[in-house]
Order: sequence, then C-alpha cells, then structure tokens
Amino acid sequence: MRLTLILVVLSFFFSSLVAQDHQWFYEIHEEYREASLEDRFFTHSDVEPLIVNLKDHPDFEVNLEGESVQGRSIYLVKWGSGPKKVYLWTQMHGNEPTATMAVADIFNFLASDENEEIKEELAEKVTLLFLPMVNPDGAEVYKRRNALDVDLNRDAQRLQSPESVILKDVRDRYNPDFGFNLHDQSLYYGAGFSGKPVAIAFLAPAYNQEREVNKQRLNAMKLIAQLNEIVQEYAPGKVAKFSDAFEPRAFGDNMQRWGTSTILIESGGYRDDPEKQYLRKLHFTILMSSFFSIADGDFKNYSREAYESIPANRISIFDLVIRNAEVELPEGTFVLDLGYRDHIVFGDGHVGSPEIGPRLVDVGDLSTFGAYTEYDASGFTLKQGEIWPEVFKSSEELANSIWAERLQEGYTYFRLDGPIPESLQRIMPFVVLGPEEERPEFPMLGKNAALLMEKQGEYRYIVANGRMHNLVLFR
Ligand SMILES: [Zn+2]
Repeated sequence: MRLTLILVVLSFFFSSLVAQDHQWFYEIHEEYREASLEDRFFTHSDVEPLIVNLKDHPDFEVNLEGESVQGRSIYLVKWGSGPKKVYLWTQMHGNEPTATMAVADIFNFLASDENEEIKEELAEKVTLLFLPMVNPDGAEVYKRRNALDVDLNRDAQRLQSPESVILKDVRDRYNPDFGFNLHDQSLYYGAGFSGKPVAIAFLAPAYNQEREVNKQRLNAMKLIAQLNEIVQEYAPGKVAKFSDAFEPRAFGDNMQRWGTSTILIESGGYRDDPEKQYLRKLHFTILMSSFFSIADGDFKNYSREAYESIPANRISIFDLVIRNAEVELPEGTFVLDLGYRDHIVFGDGHVGSPEIGPRLVDVGDLSTFGAYTEYDASGFTLKQGEIWPEVFKSSEELANSIWAERLQEGYTYFRLDGPIPESLQRIMPFVVLGPEEERPEFPMLGKNAALLMEKQGEYRYIVANGRMHNLVLFR
C-alpha cells in the first residue's frame, strides 16, 4: 500500500514536465502571439525592440554580440540556467522569417508571469540561447543573402561575413548540446510521392561525406522522430525529411561536426496560409515541445528508424493542377494533366524564387504531384479560346466593356494598347494581349494560355492566369 503511494507520487513528479505536452502549447499559442509581427515582411527595426525589452526582465540575459555588414545589431538572448544547452538561430536567410515570429512568441511565453512553476522547472534543466534574425540586412530587403551577397549558409568554413562569425562564436563559447537551424523552404515541396505540400521539413544534417551517424546525430534524429509525430497530429502527411547530402560549407552540417546535435527545421507551405501564421503556430508548438523533451530526455524513447521513415522532401507541388483533361489538337486528342506555378523553382528549391506570374510548368502524368488547388477535369475537353478583335485604349475601357458576355461566346483573349496592370492580369478570367501580340498556343510550357473547358457543348470554365474560373459567375 505504502509502496504504491510512493510510486504514484514519484510518477507524478517525473511526469510533471512531460505533462506540458504539445496540445497545451498549441492551445496557448494565441495568448502569447507577438501582435506586432503580423505578416512575413517585418524587419530588424520591428524585432530589435522586442529583444531589447527583455533586458529589464530578471529571467533573461541579452548580449549584443556584434553587427551585420550594414551595422545592424545582432543579439544573443539567454534564458534558463540548466546544464542542457539549446542554441537556436533564425533567419540566416533574410527572406525566411517564420521561425523569428515563433521565437518572438516564445519570448512572450517565457517572459509572462504565468505558468511560473513549469518554467522554473524547465529553467533548472535547460539553458536556451536564441540568436534571432542572424541576417538582418537580408531581412531589410527580404532577400536570402546578406549585404555582401554571401549566402551565410555557405560561409561556415571561410567565415568572411560578420554574421557568420557571430553564429560560430556563440557555438564555440557555449558548446551547446542541441542546435536548431531554422529556415523556410519553397512552397513547392511535397512529402514523398503523396502530393501533399510539406508544412514542416526536418533534417539531422550529415557531418561527413559518408553520412555516418554518431551519438550527436542520432540524438537529433530521435528528437526529429518525436517532432514528426507531433506535427502529424496537426498537419497529417505534411512532414518530410530534407536531403542529407553533405555540404561542407553549411552551418547545420558543421554544427553537427563540431559536436552539437543539430536539427534543421524548414517551414514550408500550407493551404490558405500565405503569411505563414499557422506554420508559425506549429513552429511554436514543436520548439516548446523540444525544450521539454530535451529537459526530460524524452526524445531518447524514439528511434532512428522512425526518423528514416519520414518521406523525402521532393519538389512536387503546383499552385494549380488540372487532371485528366481531354485536349484536342490537330494531331489528335490526348488526356493530359496540367500543372501551373506562379514562382520559378531554383535548383535547390529554396525560397526567394522570383514570382514571374502564373505559367504552365508541366504537362503529362502528374499523378505523383499535388497542388494547392486541384481540379479533376475528367469528361471535359480543353480548348483554345478566341481573340476578341477590338483593341481597348485603356484598362478602364476594357474593364467597363462587356467582356463577361464575350467569355460565354468563347473569347478568352482581349487586346489592350497600353500597359497591363499586373493586378488586372492576375485576377481576370482572361488573358490580356498587346495590339499585335500572338496568342500562346497550347501545349506550351512556360506560357499563360487562356483555355476553355467544355462539357456537352457548353463552356463551363476558363483556365487563365493560373486560376480556374467558373463561367457561371460571369453570366
Ligand atoms: Zn534557408
């Protein structure tokens, strides 16, 4: 009887930290959301006051570590005094801001006067070291590289940028147990062959060409296995594993090599979340869960196999895909899938791919690809639209014309003598041509044709500007 009581009491103590599980963090996130960061386009001047404010808080230590190439301050924010050191750096690529938002929310959680008991317990077990917005000059103009046009993630060896020196110097001073390398990736990554956009991608980077696994890397794999399980609850099937090809100049790979269990987290894409506010919430949830898992050693219950079973990160997502459309061409009739994207994809799939406007980027069997918007066009015939012969003198004149009626008659191209406002082009269910411009003929990769979808002799939809437009709406 007494023994049972002792066991119950003991298990209560041992489970008290674990009890703060991911669901709780997910639920409380809104309370601690830093309201001043409301979209992706904030800069150093928005983030700096949030950091400097922490100087007056007794639980935080804020050190000015140095300056970026253009003289913007980079700070180390320290919280807790436990033996397990956790180092997190965000936005070494200036246009990858999601984790910076999540870290600002974590600061709010840690700085609040609520949940004191839980935080005290955590602070005894871990020391958190945050280096937010490592590349403030890049963030200023929303670009990947720093003011020298150096990709900081290829500067871990040569250390020519002051930002890289700071990042490495903090690691060397504290020799952290865990490191979180926080990025955003292309919206066009999918999880394996599932066709699902990747919300969060992970990697335990390799520390050598052979991609060997030592204790540090194994611990990173185990923690990722746990985090995968968490994200699966909120974004089922939308987790992937980044390629572990060794990059000798990258920070993640070198951090792992220098002895810190390093975890790469990439925020990807999520339907109807262009400003990545839901991904920010997921980020908050998994980072907070990580701190508690590291504090308790909970990650050790997970396996390398569970990590290895996470599907590969693969460029396989479109903005729009139209499946099984019958296309009539002079050469015959073919059943084709059409994939459209608004942005170019760089070879390595990083973000910052320029937006070039909607284009047809793939044709054929796209069954292993997915999209943010999908349409099954089985039973529809896809046809080229006609050009309305009149040339409009201004976009206002075109907008005020009876173009909606013309659409029903099969005209999907309108001529305009003058500049075409991008906003007009983007939202309209037709394509605007110059006075002499040729119509893009289908099939033509890289082009934006305005195609009609016909069923039983009736035009039902127009595919133009990378969107599907229901003709009923224009009757
Ligand atoms: Zn990046």
